[in-house]
Amino acid sequence: MVINPRVEMMPTEEKVELILQRFRKNLRWALEKSSFYKKKYNGLDIHAEDIKTLSDIRNLPVTTRDELIQASAFDLLTGPLSQTLRFNRTISGLYRGFTADDIARNIDIAIRPLASNDINKTSTLIICGNYSSQYLLDLHYAAEALGATVLPCNSVDAAIDVIGIFNATSLIISAKNLKTMIERNVDHLPPKIIVLIDNFQDTTLDEIEHHFHHPLAKVYMSKYFGFAGIIFTCEHNHVHVQDDYLYPEVVDNKLVITPLTFEAMPIIRFQTKLTASIDYKHTCECGRTFATIQLEK
Ligand SMILES: [Zn+2]
Repeated sequence: MVINPRVEMMPTEEKVELILQRFRKNLRWALEKSSFYKKKYNGLDIHAEDIKTLSDIRNLPVTTRDELIQASAFDLLTGPLSQTLRFNRTISGLYRGFTADDIARNIDIAIRPLASNDINKTSTLIICGNYSSQYLLDLHYAAEALGATVLPCNSVDAAIDVIGIFNATSLIISAKNLKTMIERNVDHLPPKIIVLIDNFQDTTLDEIEHHFHHPLAKVYMSKYFGFAGIIFTCEHNHVHVQDDYLYPEVVDNKLVITPLTFEAMPIIRFQTKLTASIDYKHTCECGRTFATIQLEK
């Protein structure tokens, strides 16, 4: 189900305008408030108002994983700690902070892939994973916003118990934990399984899909951004990027992503190591006008 047709099915021209407007605002914010970007862009004559077309974005230097890890959390932060509602240690050396508005947007981002995968008020949903990860909180709140009954389980054992008791209809789980469930011959796996992907090179999912003889729904999360749903598979198994919130580019065959609305800690042109191709003009049967992406292992 397309939960927000006005945005998810937005005409391309309108989308480009929205991306440019958000990109300029984000860049201006980073230049004014982030010590990290003040230093990084120092002397480079970069001005938000110079971003007039999407191709202008390609003139800006990328931000690498190592730069983010080596930077102090306080250099990346755009305001005092008191304005940051949540901090999350996403990987060793990297912290992500979120304002109240960031968290509200993260939940909006998580709502769309869940709605696309039939999570609604009739769902009894198990979320299996470590809740110290911010992205599971966002998925949890998104599912509740859709009216689902949510059962958080911090271990595979707990999830197996709960499946039997509550006759769960849906399960959000990592590929690794799902593989464990399959190996333990769990009876009555919920009919709707959404696999959380945080390692794009992991081949565990291929083994699982081979076991089920069909592709599973996937929601991708980023440890560097600290939230889930930036990329997801739709009802027709195409992989979409939520490009009203995250602008994707491919540079030298590698995916570069700019989150367009990060308030606490903006990131400009994050260079991933993912080999990808993007089709901005693909018209998906699901009706969404989000960019369609192909990720290669
Ligand atoms: Zn689609």
